[in-house]
Amino acid sequence: MTNIYPEFERQIPRQGKEELLKQKGQAIWLYGLSGSGKSTIANALEKLLHEQGRYVVMVDGDNLRSGLNAGLGFTDEDREENIRRASEVVKLLVNNGAIVLVTLITPQEKFRAMAREIVGTDDLKEVYVKASFEACQQRDVKGLYAKAAAGGVKNFSGKTSNFEEPETPDLTINTEESSVEESVAQVLKLII
Ligand code: ADP
Repeated sequence: MTNIYPEFERQIPRQGKEELLKQKGQAIWLYGLSGSGKSTIANALEKLLHEQGRYVVMVDGDNLRSGLNAGLGFTDEDREENIRRASEVVKLLVNNGAIVLVTLITPQEKFRAMAREIVGTDDLKEVYVKASFEACQQRDVKGLYAKAAAGGVKNFSGKTSNFEEPETPDLTINTEESSVEESVAQVLKLII
């Protein structure tokens, strides 16, 4: 990169931030179909950790799309760029000592591999929030499944664009079997 001089060396190192916050910077990446339960779990976890005096930052797909990633759509290429940018944001936050909870559909293994590559496997744990397409459709929290069925959502995950089941997540939570409380307790165990 010409004429770009990153300042990392002259800035306060990660360790200084972690000592200040009294925690280890780390990311928990929750992925799964729309309506599988990612935000419900992450929001409850944020509250719990916050009450414990821990510093948590949420990185949510829809939130990013309303700002940093406005303008990106849902084609394969745009999803990849969406996840690349999200991963860089996550890395920045982790390197500044934050506990980062990521909620992004992240439908394909190649996207997850990119997130691992950018954030680093030492700092990233993957949680597959699992629920069948039918269950998510029935919940239809955001009304997207009804819209998709009517043909109003392009490249909707689980329908026209495929969601690949992960092979080796750090944790799988089946939200058709576990309660929200049980799910939150399971994810909590992953946090150092
Ligand atoms: P996502 O963020 O994955 O799109 P949401 O969290 O917005 O999904 O919606 C998930 C829905 O499923 C909510 O209505 C929630 O109450 C319900 N639900 C049922 N069981 C669970 C569970 N174990 N964990 C999380 N959500 C659950």
